Amino acid sequence: MPEKTAGLRRSHYCGEINEDLAGSEVTIAGWVQRRRDHGGLVFLDMRDRSGLVQTVFDPQEDPETHRRARDLRPEYVLALRGTVRPRPADMENPKLKTGKVEILIRELRVLNGSKTPPFQIEEDQNVSENVRLKYRYLDLRIPGRLELFVLRDKITRITRDFFSGEGFLEVETPFLTRSTPEGARDFLVPSRLSPGRFYALPQSPQIFKQLLMIAGFDRYYQIARCFRDEDLRADRQPEFTQVDLEMSFVDEEDVMGLLEKYARRIFRETLGEAPPAPFPRLAHAEAMARYGSDRPDLRYDLEIRDLTHLLRNSSARIFSEGVKDGGAVRVLKAEDPRGRLSRRHLDDLVSLAQSLGAPGLAWIRTAQDGWRGPLVKFLSPEDIRGMKTELDCGDADILFFMSGEKDQASIILGRIRQELARLLDLIPENARSLVWITRFPLFEYSKEERRWVSSHHPFTAPEEDSLQFLESDPGRVLSRAYDLVLNGNEIGGGSVRIHRPEIQERVFQALGLPREEYREKFGFFLEALSYGAPPHGGCAFGLDRLAALLSGSGSIREVIAFPKTQKGVCPLTEAPGPARAAQLSELGLKLP
Ligand code: ASP
Repeated sequence: MPEKTAGLRRSHYCGEINEDLAGSEVTIAGWVQRRRDHGGLVFLDMRDRSGLVQTVFDPQEDPETHRRARDLRPEYVLALRGTVRPRPADMENPKLKTGKVEILIRELRVLNGSKTPPFQIEEDQNVSENVRLKYRYLDLRIPGRLELFVLRDKITRITRDFFSGEGFLEVETPFLTRSTPEGARDFLVPSRLSPGRFYALPQSPQIFKQLLMIAGFDRYYQIARCFRDEDLRADRQPEFTQVDLEMSFVDEEDVMGLLEKYARRIFRETLGEAPPAPFPRLAHAEAMARYGSDRPDLRYDLEIRDLTHLLRNSSARIFSEGVKDGGAVRVLKAEDPRGRLSRRHLDDLVSLAQSLGAPGLAWIRTAQDGWRGPLVKFLSPEDIRGMKTELDCGDADILFFMSGEKDQASIILGRIRQELARLLDLIPENARSLVWITRFPLFEYSKEERRWVSSHHPFTAPEEDSLQFLESDPGRVLSRAYDLVLNGNEIGGGSVRIHRPEIQERVFQALGLPREEYREKFGFFLEALSYGAPPHGGCAFGLDRLAALLSGSGSIREVIAFPKTQKGVCPLTEAPGPARAAQLSELGLKLP
């Protein structure tokens, strides 16, 4: 039976017990990690949020407490009073920060019992994610989990301190709202008071933060929850948190400059060291051509090169055919002096390229006694000579070729680049690379929807010089957007916004939205822009991703207290759940 805590008030956290306390009486409260019965003594490892400490029950000291201790099991909740004493030297545990001492217990209160937990409260138990999330409150007891939330808490505190110090106001914006497009599906919430109508949960506070600029707030920020109904990939969650901000009377340099200051402070105060500013900048087109990605990982070199000019008339048909219709030949050269890439690795890389839609992936190994690879027999001596000079080939290189549509060729080599860096062990430990990607195209063509869609969102301003192509050649219009990339992950992004209503309308039109549709959805916003909207711009940082990267966690789910599975389900609460017929009818809804 649980007992009262009365009389036993915690004096120390478990993790605080050390040699300095030897001889003192302490009271701890926490969970039983493990019980061991040894030569008449009972040892309990006790855990609380600060760590573990060993306690001892000795029948010589207190036979009754010792007898009761023998019935205690893992995860029982106890309050214990006793005296700290040094452990015999050969019994010290250097892995524990409390490992030099133990507490000889004189008083025991059982505050609660526990069922046998579905898994041991220890790291590396090989528990399926479903079970971990179903019992997330037990999973979070595992030593080490809490540290991730301590770090996350630190990031949010620095964030509030930083932005408030820079004159930003934290303002909350609604969850029940109209659609705020960011390229995902909306989560809809039916309205009881307006039957047949729906709120949408915000994909971001984008429209509201712009309205706050129109309201003259000048500098806004928020640690904001965003909701996006998308097919979940490993590093996505249907609800996630952004550090969201907006500023008036600024251009992209002002916003990027401030964000560099913020990012450097976060790095300095969490990792002890800040990357130098200004962070390098790379135009989108260049990032695509050189690294095959709009979020290149620059911790290692491996650049994609263009060989179109050299191989346009090559005797190898895959090249001469590939460059037709404006195509290109692109190549990635890696040095492999220790012959790490086996034939199997090469086959795997070819399969990877094929899975990305390439017909194949041609490769060549260079060596002193000649070049090898399926492609070599098709190349003329001039082709080989040209490549040797152009690529400065050594005797132990490996070249990968893609030809055809430019971006497609680069994107595939970009993925090969990432894989090669892993296989050849090119990623320096603890290296950090931050880079801004700028000058994105304003639109991307969606083959599925057969129309132009926004690369970011429809409120991003076009570059002044390319505005003239908005109607005639939308693919040529560049935007005033910028993304911040850390080690190949996008951690933030934003833009200077459109602040003139007539340009906003032209952009809606370029997106193929009929006038009635954009007026119905965004009429209120166009109207707001027409009442003297100041020039403004902003950005949002993915807080979950930042915390995951800074803590070295593999996934953002580790730094979210109650995340959802890849299917968007919460195994703990079993959300989403069914609705009762009465609820549905109140909402005016009928299920098919
Ligand atoms: N609203 C954008 C996003 O959620 C960020 C921004 O443009 O400020 O990605």
